[in-house]
Amino acid sequence: MRAYNFSAGPATLPEPVLRQAQDEMLEWRHAGASIVELSHRGPEFMEVAAEAEADLRSLMSIPADYAVLFLGGGATTQQALLALNFASPGQAADYVLTGHWGKTAIKQVKPYVAANVVASSEAEGFRNIPARGSWQLTPGAAYVHVTANETIHGVEFPDIPDTGDVPLFADFSSSIASEPLDVSRFGVIYAGAQKNLGPVGITVVIVRRDLLERAGQPRADILDYRAHVKGESMLNTPPTWNWYMLGLTVKWMLAEGGVTEFAHRNARKSRMLYSRIDESGGFYRNEVDPAVRSRMNVPFFLHDTALDKPFLQEAAAAGLISLKGHRALGGMRASIYNAMPEAGVEALSGFMHDFQRRHG
Ligand SMILES: *Cc1c(COP(=O)(O)O)cnc(C)c1O
Repeated sequence: MRAYNFSAGPATLPEPVLRQAQDEMLEWRHAGASIVELSHRGPEFMEVAAEAEADLRSLMSIPADYAVLFLGGGATTQQALLALNFASPGQAADYVLTGHWGKTAIKQVKPYVAANVVASSEAEGFRNIPARGSWQLTPGAAYVHVTANETIHGVEFPDIPDTGDVPLFADFSSSIASEPLDVSRFGVIYAGAQKNLGPVGITVVIVRRDLLERAGQPRADILDYRAHVKGESMLNTPPTWNWYMLGLTVKWMLAEGGVTEFAHRNARKSRMLYSRIDESGGFYRNEVDPAVRSRMNVPFFLHDTALDKPFLQEAAAAGLISLKGHRALGGMRASIYNAMPEAGVEALSGFMHDFQRRHG
């Protein structure tokens, strides 16, 4: 039986998407083969690829002056490619550090640019986001990089920071398409698919086209976004199965009402969990500043770590799985992306209430 799966990534997928993939596994439409067995340059896959892009553009209202790429390598590879493509050797790039993934982003560009941490909440244990007014931006920086939602620490930007003429680059891996977003405020948006867009193995990169004219650093064409745009994300064999699954997931989101509908659902789901935690009288706790709490990943701790194991065991027995927190933080984490139904969060909230009654 399928449980409610709160995994942070790879994460739960919409059941209708899995069923459609199952139905089409042996033969895609009338192609005589599965989509995963056909050439990426054939008419069948070209149709899947074009539809996925058109649907994602529609779902996220991506303006025409932005290119959309579907690449392998995950979000982490894009973190390195940002510097190679958009910063010249020796140029500075500014990073706002609000959690684990911001650190990864900095690590990936260290060989290529002078990465400046212009604001950080590390000293406070990544429980808040430094106010925009306190950021010390570097004159002449290639870009400012933020992590829109920190998946491990459960910290999310509540609005888009203004960086003036310096393009804003954002890692949206764990919050893409979870609410309406003004894409035109960004230079680059990138996201691994495995949280909100589909299965792991494909990454979406949304790039403002004028930035592609930057010289960047010496690089092979496989590391060059310009070449990927020109080659329509098919410089080499793309991850076709993942691209197809991403397409089905995006279609499902459109059919459910698009990002406006998901914004409402995600607000209700996260509110339900945070109130369960805050109203537990200290039995559960979340330490993030309420103004920047993530709508996607809810980390929480039990007042007594001796209860962690029974909590996880009893939750699993109740059909609620993958609640163990990231090893960097301990405790629990409930990831409640678009594909997590409200009924799943209701079940978790009810379980938490009941667990507290029995162990409090
Ligand atoms: C999961 C995640 C990543 C890492 O993605 P990979 O696809 O494994 O490289 C990067 N950033 C954020 C915000 C994430 O949630």
